[in-house]
Amino acid sequence: MSGGPGPVVVVGAGLAGLRAATALRDLGYAGGLTLVGDEPHPPYDRPPLSKEVLTGRLPAAAAELPLPSGLDARLVLGRAAVRLDRAARTVVLDDGTPLRYGGLVVATGASAAPWPGPGVPPERGVHLLRGRRDAVALRGALLAGGPVLVAGGGFLGCEVASAARSMGLPVTLVDPAGSPLEAAVGPAAGSFMAAVQADAGVDLRMGATVAELPDHRGSALLSDGTRVAARTVVLALGARPNTAWLRGSGLGLDPVSGALLCDGRRRALDHRGSPVPGIVALGDAAAAPHPFPGPGAPAHLALGHWSEAVDHAATAAAALLGGAPPREPGVPSFWSDQFGLRIRSVGVPRAADTAEVLEHDLPNRRLEVVYRRGGRTVGALTVGRTSRLAAHRRRIARGLAGQEVSTDSGIAVDRQA
Ligand SMILES: Cc1cc2nc3c(=O)[nH]c(=O)nc-3n(C[C@H](O)[C@H](O)[C@H](O)COP(=O)(O)OP(=O)(O)OC[C@H]3O[C@@H](n4cnc5c(N)ncnc54)[C@H](O)[C@@H]3O)c2cc1C
Repeated sequence: MSGGPGPVVVVGAGLAGLRAATALRDLGYAGGLTLVGDEPHPPYDRPPLSKEVLTGRLPAAAAELPLPSGLDARLVLGRAAVRLDRAARTVVLDDGTPLRYGGLVVATGASAAPWPGPGVPPERGVHLLRGRRDAVALRGALLAGGPVLVAGGGFLGCEVASAARSMGLPVTLVDPAGSPLEAAVGPAAGSFMAAVQADAGVDLRMGATVAELPDHRGSALLSDGTRVAARTVVLALGARPNTAWLRGSGLGLDPVSGALLCDGRRRALDHRGSPVPGIVALGDAAAAPHPFPGPGAPAHLALGHWSEAVDHAATAAAALLGGAPPREPGVPSFWSDQFGLRIRSVGVPRAADTAEVLEHDLPNRRLEVVYRRGGRTVGALTVGRTSRLAAHRRRIARGLAGQEVSTDSGIAVDRQA
């Protein structure tokens, strides 16, 4: 495999891009390797941004990812890919530079979803959180004081609320669901975390959205007609895959999320669904076949988890080099640190039709939920019970390999939305 497709261009100098480049070298690829990133920074890790960097425990520079010795890659930073010409096997950069490739890795990640309404004047104190600059700007705003309004009760919004409360700031969290995290992990885990957040002093406004950003007096309007004081607003409204530069290339983009569709070997698909030679995709920019296909489940899924970028790097690199996957990628997993708790999940909780609560111990901050679809385990979540996850992970892995026997006990404690 040492010859490989050469030269390889990796677009996106983040976690997925760096891991794919490293995997190419690990598999013996010795040809030219270029990593293109539109941020001015070398590759860095995003999870600390909404945790240690916001609370000031780590400077943003500490999130930088180490570049492995022997990577021998050319880093082109501060330059965006704006077009893919598949016929010419060329990626065009925003300064007009054409980069010829024999193999292409699409690892352009995602961007924070913007405010859906009209343009936001910069002086309004409205923040997004995706990159290093965002984290530094938001940290500065939090240091200047509250109150803080967080729009969106997903993992990111909850981590921001946690960081702001740990700094003693008044925080209001607004989400259309019945409880925070509910859209991702269901109402049982959501109501547990709602209790944790209320205990930590978060003013939870569930079943509502931010209808209007704060006016000049710093008063935001919610969809339920109430007003909330906000000096800083954080929009945590989800993420959008960075694939606009691929439009017109004939590659298949998910009509809903915009993610680049790929097969299980991470080979990019064209608009007819056929794998395209010489192009692979991974990380937040890509949607892979749903691990638990079935009625109601989309054919492809972009999970947006750190582990997805890491676990699929070797598979993508092997596909680019024309080899077999080195090993089966693991069960999807996710973690979040908030309000002094570590939430961990395996599988795809949102693919479930029922959730069974195995332990719910609010005073001791312990929770264990197993998620099933058609009686088959598709996910599990723990708070303060990380050691329990391994068994669930094994059961999910057996299910993915088609070996799990239906375990439906008939106890449908919490029917998912
Ligand atoms: C604040 C935050 C906290 C998170 N916390 C957790 C967590 O606790 N647990 C967890 O499991 N996951 C977490 N995640 C998710 C995890 O960080 C992502 O899944 C992971 O970063 C995906 O890696 P990626 O390389 O695909 O994308 P990214 O990390 O976004 O990297 C993509 C890079 O490509 C660049 N790029 C985009 N378009 C172009 C272009 N056209 N040309 C060149 N470069 C381009 C981007 O600017 C970026 O630098 C968090 C994410 C964020 C934002």
